[in-house]
Amino acid sequence: MTNTSQIQSSEHEELQISRLLNGLSAMAVLFLAGIGAKAWYAEHHLHAWVLWAFVVPIVANIGWYAWRRDRTVQKRGLLVIVGLLFTYLIASGGEGNTGPLWFYVFPPLLFYLTSLKGGTAILLFCYLLAVLVFQFPDMPGVSAEYSTDFKIRFFATLTFESIFCFVLEAGRLRARNKLVALAQAHEHAARTDELTGLANRRDMQGRLNTEFSRFERSGHHFSVVLIDLDLFKRINDDFGHDAGDEVLRQFADLVRQMVRQSDVAARWGGEEFLLLLPDTTLLQALTLAERLRAEVAATRFHHREQTLPVTISAGVCSISKSGSINELLKQADVQLYNAKESGRNRISPRVRSQDTGSSPQTPA
Ligand code: GH3
Ligand code: MG
Ligand code: MG
Repeated sequence: MTNTSQIQSSEHEELQISRLLNGLSAMAVLFLAGIGAKAWYAEHHLHAWVLWAFVVPIVANIGWYAWRRDRTVQKRGLLVIVGLLFTYLIASGGEGNTGPLWFYVFPPLLFYLTSLKGGTAILLFCYLLAVLVFQFPDMPGVSAEYSTDFKIRFFATLTFESIFCFVLEAGRLRARNKLVALAQAHEHAARTDELTGLANRRDMQGRLNTEFSRFERSGHHFSVVLIDLDLFKRINDDFGHDAGDEVLRQFADLVRQMVRQSDVAARWGGEEFLLLLPDTTLLQALTLAERLRAEVAATRFHHREQTLPVTISAGVCSISKSGSINELLKQADVQLYNAKESGRNRISPRVRSQDTGSSPQTPA
């Protein structure tokens, strides 16, 4: 079953990341413009032009996201631009050989935007690039030279920072996953009947409302079957409460086997169950209810080697015969009452045997 709250929470998280990236991109544009201007006045014209040139892809990335809302492109685009910018800053030294300092921004951003594995792989690749630049200052495109002390401290501090970022991100992900699992378990518990594992009344009410909206919007018909176990008090009295519970569980298993995937079966209360059958006419619903009734009557329910006499009665109603959910449930209840009144182990309204190919039994 699709977990809507999980989808919503990860969607919300992704939206937050995208907003953060837009903010960081805007900040980067300001810094590039400002530091570029400072470099221009310090007569470092080429450096100023390169910094300003980086503004173009960053603004393009923001614009592309605003237009297409493609978060993958936004993330990857920003990582590539930042990677190229930092490589340039290390190779050129930036202003007064301070360029490599910007590299410290990279590990937290990288782990936040990618996975732990992917982030580590990209980081190792960047380390390799930095080692190459440091070791071979005569390479084309490399104009900075760093002292040995600087290189050692740069790598040592960057390694510490990367390990901290990795550990913190791993902890954050662990805590997040635990929280998601906990929220999922709570949500499942809030929607599920503990004894039978079927949907509970609260969940069914939500689904009925959704199905009714679908009916109002696009005319998709649906039907409900309100089922009540016959003389259930007697089972409790004669065989004990545990036997009664066992019957409810076995009946729920039977229902699960007999309904379609798109149908919803809920424990409506005590020994009452409600089936919601989307895209189902009254006749189709009656046919299913009759099959279920016959199957229950033919099944041997047992508890501790004792065979228990179980039959059901059900009232069926289609939305085409009622104008609202309340009316639908009221009519199904009236039909259930009729089924009980006419002797139990019955479906109401009555199905003609030639419609279903099976004949209702008389009560046990
Ligand atoms: P009818 O055919 O008219 O429906 O008779 P009934 O005995 O089934 O109806 P009644 O409403 O008199 O009794 C329902 C019984 O279901 C009473 C209640 O103790 C029992 N019941 C409700 N919930 C549970 C449950 O979770 N476990 C068990 N074992 N019994 C339950
Ligand atoms: Mg009842
Ligand atoms: Mg009953």
